[in-house]
Amino acid sequence: MLKIENLTAHYGAAQALFGVDLDVGKGETVALVGANGAGKSTLLKCLMGLVKPSGGRITLNENDVTNSSPAKMVRLGLALSPEGREVFGELSVFENLQLGAIPLKLSKGEEAARIEEVFVRFPKLRERHKQLAGTLSGGEQQMLAMGRALMAKPALLLLDEPSLGLAPLITDEIFAIVHQLSRAGTTILLVEQNAARALSASDKAYLLANGKMVEQGKSSELLNDPILRAAFLGAASEENPAASRLGAAGLTNIRLEKPDMTQQNFMPAFSSEEELKAHQLAGLKWTLRHAYEGSADYREKLDDAGITPDSIESFDDLRRLPFTTADDLRDGYPFPLRSVPFEQIVRIHASSGTTGKRKVLGYTQKDLDDWTDFFARCYQMAGVTPLDRVQVAVGYGVWTAGMGFQLGCEKIGALAVPVGPGNIDMQIQFLLDFQSTVFCSTASMALLMAEEIHKRGVADKIAVKKIIYGSERSSRSMRKKISELFGGAELYDITGLTELYGPGTGIECSEHDCIHYWGDYYILEILDPDTLQPVPDGEWGEMVVTTLCKEAAPLIRYRTRDITRIIPGRCACGSILPRHSRIKGRSDDTIKFRGVNIYPSSIDTILSAVPGVGSEYQIHLSRDDAGRDHMRLVAERAEGVAAGRANELIHEIHHQLKKQLLVSVDVELVDYASLPRSEKKSQRVFDNRIQDEIV
Ligand code: ZN
Repeated sequence: MLKIENLTAHYGAAQALFGVDLDVGKGETVALVGANGAGKSTLLKCLMGLVKPSGGRITLNENDVTNSSPAKMVRLGLALSPEGREVFGELSVFENLQLGAIPLKLSKGEEAARIEEVFVRFPKLRERHKQLAGTLSGGEQQMLAMGRALMAKPALLLLDEPSLGLAPLITDEIFAIVHQLSRAGTTILLVEQNAARALSASDKAYLLANGKMVEQGKSSELLNDPILRAAFLGAASEENPAASRLGAAGLTNIRLEKPDMTQQNFMPAFSSEEELKAHQLAGLKWTLRHAYEGSADYREKLDDAGITPDSIESFDDLRRLPFTTADDLRDGYPFPLRSVPFEQIVRIHASSGTTGKRKVLGYTQKDLDDWTDFFARCYQMAGVTPLDRVQVAVGYGVWTAGMGFQLGCEKIGALAVPVGPGNIDMQIQFLLDFQSTVFCSTASMALLMAEEIHKRGVADKIAVKKIIYGSERSSRSMRKKISELFGGAELYDITGLTELYGPGTGIECSEHDCIHYWGDYYILEILDPDTLQPVPDGEWGEMVVTTLCKEAAPLIRYRTRDITRIIPGRCACGSILPRHSRIKGRSDDTIKFRGVNIYPSSIDTILSAVPGVGSEYQIHLSRDDAGRDHMRLVAERAEGVAAGRANELIHEIHHQLKKQLLVSVDVELVDYASLPRSEKKSQRVFDNRIQDEIV
């Protein structure tokens, strides 16, 4: 429709446009983007006949209109909503609109009809039709300027800097109208400094700098062009010559509103197993020296084992290092394993422990940055993008969980909905209202939500595509059920523990048959929990971890008690990151029940404080058809206690468990000496929750 070819323009001796080309097709919205002084206004003025071009050609519907008068251009169907609005402040809104129709010599009826159309599009102008235009807000004046231009029913609407000087919210409103006009088929040439706005509101765009077109193309592609984004966002530098070029062209004062997260990569830099091993050896050496020099506890332990900071020469020397256990953490309460001065610690987190002292871990800023980076890697591996909306339904606060999910989410630039755990009604409402695309929770919470979604029949009204769940074991059947009831969402098991930063130390990939773990942040050994000797790759054993760059509380051969196995070889997904199976269980008796860690020793303590109850007991864990976990405690009456007291004792045990462990337990009381005794440690925990294969 509009074609500008090789256009040049001068102001006196100064050249303002240098051979500019531009095309606008019928029905298109085309953006002309450039910094202040780039030549945008000159181009518009040439187009409107206000400035005489010194060369080139302008055609409108294949007629040469170069050097036409402004009046002729208006008659040919061009209408301008000028920069700075230029409304007549002493006239009313209504009168300003009438002025827009004057050159067209409309009948009274036609004029009224067109004003009515403008009022339909801009209800605010109807509300204020008698008000003097000079008393309107900036946003309302912009609407008036656009409305006045629309009075001409233009073939081509020229919008010059519609967002200039407006608050972001008002800009939103103006651009919503630009979108509407565009959808209604109005042909628009949009001239804007705000590149992000202009690009997202247009079909194609031209970037003008110092009077020259420096870039043109589809707006959606330009919006994602890494060089342009770097130029818009980054400072010019030697490393970023493209930014220098565009920067010199005056484009760096154009700001996109969100950095381009799609260009970010959180995968590790190493490209072979040898490189990873070399990185791990260097990290191991660093960690040993750091812990030895920074922590009196570590030094004592290492001295006892005859280890000095120089003891590590090869990877095999790792086996000579002493283990660190949960007891070391509890003994060191409140700041165990602290290896940096307090002034370097910026945060603490604690594990959920129901007995004894909690495990408290300190973090330096670098620790938090590392955690954030590899949590972002988790999201990346699960295919989460900046366009996702991530509903985080795990605990916030002193627990690491919520924080990790939040930090990683912000790092990749997705929208976080930090709800926290529980609160099913609110969760469902947010899934519906915010159309969250990723749901993060424990496995049992995910199941609970899945059932609720099913019960309310809203599976087809939610937008969840991925569920990232962790901290509990899950079986294939449970995963299948969650996925189905969530309308076919894909599940990603995420691993982690507070001692090792928090959640996010590994995640399932799109192949869904392994956990990739971050070998560039920690070394993983799989040991036989009894002999503490390594098991061959592929065999189950206890996961033992050694950190490679953790500052505040480094871990040296920390016994996680989680049971898993190494999966040798490269994954079909193509990632070079090493992998292990989903966590199968624990090498101690810790029970994970409805998200709470319970140590059997705490049940010992509670039972022994109830007079009339014996010391033997069994815990049976089961999962009902609905997927809900249940705990049944079988205890004995103490010797000589009458069977008639059973109800009273059951009530008391139930009450104490609820009060101290915050869990509801079915209690059964049996005769004295009816539970089996064993010379060795008797089996007290019977976990029947998972019947089928875990991995
Ligand atoms: Zn994989």
